[in-house]
Amino acid sequence: MKFVIIGGDAAGMSAASRAKRNMSDLEVTVLEQTQDVSYSACGMPYNIADPDRDMDDLVVRHAHVFREKQGIDLRTGHRVEGIDRNAKTVAGRNLEGREFEISYDKLLIATGASPIIPDLSGFDLPGVMALKTLEDGKKIKDFIGSRDVKKVVIIGMGYIALEMCEGLRDRDIEVQMVKPRPIFLPWMNPELASVVKEEVEGHGVGIHLGHKIDRIEESGSSLKVICPDSILEGEAVLVAIGVKPNSEMAAKAGLELGPFDSIAVDRTLKTNDENIYSAGDCADAYHVVTGQKTWVPLALRANRAGWAVADNVTGKRTELEGIAGSAVFKVFDLQVARTGLSMGEAEKAGFDPIEVAVKTRSRAHAHPGSTTMHVQIVGDRKSGRLLGMQIVGREGAVHRIKAPSVALHCKMTIEAFSQCDLAYAPPFSPTWDPMLTAANQLIKKM
Ligand SMILES: Cc1cc2nc3c(=O)[nH]c(=O)nc-3n(C[C@H](O)[C@H](O)[C@H](O)COP(=O)(O)OP(=O)(O)OC[C@H]3O[C@@H](n4cnc5c(N)ncnc54)[C@H](O)[C@@H]3O)c2cc1C
Repeated sequence: MKFVIIGGDAAGMSAASRAKRNMSDLEVTVLEQTQDVSYSACGMPYNIADPDRDMDDLVVRHAHVFREKQGIDLRTGHRVEGIDRNAKTVAGRNLEGREFEISYDKLLIATGASPIIPDLSGFDLPGVMALKTLEDGKKIKDFIGSRDVKKVVIIGMGYIALEMCEGLRDRDIEVQMVKPRPIFLPWMNPELASVVKEEVEGHGVGIHLGHKIDRIEESGSSLKVICPDSILEGEAVLVAIGVKPNSEMAAKAGLELGPFDSIAVDRTLKTNDENIYSAGDCADAYHVVTGQKTWVPLALRANRAGWAVADNVTGKRTELEGIAGSAVFKVFDLQVARTGLSMGEAEKAGFDPIEVAVKTRSRAHAHPGSTTMHVQIVGDRKSGRLLGMQIVGREGAVHRIKAPSVALHCKMTIEAFSQCDLAYAPPFSPTWDPMLTAANQLIKKM
């Protein structure tokens, strides 16, 4: 049997490796358009922050290892341009411009996502860059290092923008952040979002909300981001306004699309074609809270979905329940974590949501090193179910989110969650863990 995979990063290479482990005589071919496979994109902002680190440190496994040790026919520099579902072939062009066509029995589309670049004047200028691939990371690092960049404008304020803002400040680069929408972290409870905003501003970063971007212009060695009411200047501009799934080729082949034009898959990761699967940032997923389709492009889901495809292709039927939308990031000295639904998402999904935001402590009262922890919790008035949680704090936020995340998978009520035996000792938490304090406060309000 021939298993062909388009895309050789998290989802694609997870699927290839596991498929070979499950069935050593399976013919596995991976077609990857770049020269890089299996690297940690998530580590790029931290690598860029440190001029002494080599970007190639982020490569988890080199192409030759997949070829020589695992027997995977990994073809880098091979871009797939079309899928013929009747003939069961994929066709494309390699870096030398030579055309190729390969047949498959089972196909996995693991083409990931691409940064959104507005169709506005100046976004193609040298020095205007987005961070997605290892190549992008190398380009940004070389650019700021070789030109001794002192000022950068970041368009966007999502987690990659914020991680990059910290990385650039670590290199003593002045950062101005700008976006058209007026709200900072719109998915976050406003009280918690203002804590994050203050942290960013406290590190000397300019936050410019509600500024529509008209264009970017070159002015000598510098770039001007032009808004109707202001101009921001830097030697480089980082565009970080989000990503979109690479699903055009799938759509052209007649595969169904889901939220945000991601490729629609069932719980076995199968598309509407019996022989074609999709996994990772290009594909949708079920949300464990709503039971509805969603699109959250993050790394664990990509790896897990790749494994599940491999199992299904090799005859071990596997269904994925879905994701809880758990995500964490760090910005300067703050940890930010979320799981489940925000108030807005819960309303949209038809729940009758109610929230509280509490300010508690990371360690026992008066224990040295104890810091403020902000926790928001959302529940459903009708069913009493836990719907989501958000945490902002200087320590312990990121790992704490894992308890409510598991609770969401178990569809627990707030009452049941409040009875969980979360461990206590003074260096780690107050007697009532901040998660329990938030749940107790919400119960009083419900
Ligand atoms: C800066 C940054 C920080 C991140 N931090 C985090 C984090 O902290 N936590 C987290 O969970 N996630 C994080 N992510 C997201 C995470 O990296 C992705 O969710 C993950 O890489 C998705 O894997 P994937 O295999 O689905 O897609 P990708 O990693 O995008 O891989 C898709 C591959 O397909 C190839 N491809 C596309 N089209 C074709 C074609 N037509 N022919 C051949 N090859 C093709 C691409 O070249 C690419 O190599 C971060 C991402 C970035 C960019």
